[in-house]
Amino acid sequence: IDEGLRCIGCGALIQTDNKNDIGYTPMSALKKSFENDEVFCQRCFRLRHYNEIQPVNLTDDDFRHLLEQIADTNSLVVYVMDVFDFSGSLIPGLHRFVGNNDVLLVGNKVDVLPRSLKRSKIKDWMRQQANIAGLRPIDVALTSGKNGEDIEKMLDLISKYRKNRSVYVVGVTNVGKSTLINQVIKSVTGDRHDVITTSRFPGTTLDRIEIPLDDDSNIIDTPGIIHQDQMAHYLSAKDLKYVSPQKEIKPKTFQLNEGQTLFMGALARFDYIQGQRTSITAYFENNLLIHRTKLANADAFYEKHAGDLLAPPATENLAMLPPLQRYEFKTTEKTDIVIDGLGWLTVPANTVVAGWAPQGVSVLTRRAMI
Ligand code: GDP
Repeated sequence: IDEGLRCIGCGALIQTDNKNDIGYTPMSALKKSFENDEVFCQRCFRLRHYNEIQPVNLTDDDFRHLLEQIADTNSLVVYVMDVFDFSGSLIPGLHRFVGNNDVLLVGNKVDVLPRSLKRSKIKDWMRQQANIAGLRPIDVALTSGKNGEDIEKMLDLISKYRKNRSVYVVGVTNVGKSTLINQVIKSVTGDRHDVITTSRFPGTTLDRIEIPLDDDSNIIDTPGIIHQDQMAHYLSAKDLKYVSPQKEIKPKTFQLNEGQTLFMGALARFDYIQGQRTSITAYFENNLLIHRTKLANADAFYEKHAGDLLAPPATENLAMLPPLQRYEFKTTEKTDIVIDGLGWLTVPANTVVAGWAPQGVSVLTRRAMI
């Protein structure tokens, strides 16, 4: 390919190798576009013809550069996170990059949380976690890009806080930002198909997508950054689909004695180390098999059965999964042990427990939400 070939939509260098990177065009489309004398990357092509945004990934440096440019603007930053994968959706250093701009925190994928979980509690928890990460959001919204839940509420908050400024939507990959923006486009444009423009940050190859809100401000979609500490990166597409809740999670309760272990497939492990016989409730994708065994034999059991009895991942994909790492906790109140991106277990006060997750994936605790 000619080194200088650029997409006439976003200005990105055209490439045919990596589907998820900026400027990707399938070879067949590239050949065709030569005939028409118009070269669009696949993302701009789809945007133009189907009003549909595709996710695109950036390297850390490019992303930092993009964030720095947001700091120079006067805008509202909409920070989309996955309510199910909090630390996996943190953008490192975001608070430094947003400058003095207001941040509206959006917890997406709320559709998978049990109805019994109070929305106000989720928001409190998100705000608290954001504070720990150094971020002081002006407000918190919950949405589901998937079923459109509360999109209007989020848009109301955006109108409330943007004060004629443009709105930058940021997020790491997999939090559902594209799905959410596509809902916003639907909601803002109705049936019109001509309103989206793409343009690029001056002096960079970073594209951005602008959805006109009104007179002179836009909602601007920015590329997602890859966060290595996401369960998503250690799973095949098929396994990821299998463990990602598609609809409301149905809790499963286990009566446990101390010295017992639960395996969530081969992906995570929970040890009940010390405490009274008690019920422990697990919140994971409804199909994910939870296997109970003795703590004393758990290591050997995992060694022997990871990939078959304990799956996903299946044996052939086990190699891409980092070894499980152990985090021990003493509970003094009813506590959720959260395996980020996968689910959580609610344990009572006065126990000693351990949560295990693939190295890199966080195990967090929070005051029990239910
Ligand atoms: P992006 O990388 O942040 O743009 O994320 P995508 O929009 O591509 O979504 C990533 C994955 O999350 C896909 O498998 C989506 O189907 C799923 N997803 C996106 N939004 C939601 C949502 O609101 N609820 C649920 N349950 N899944 C979602």
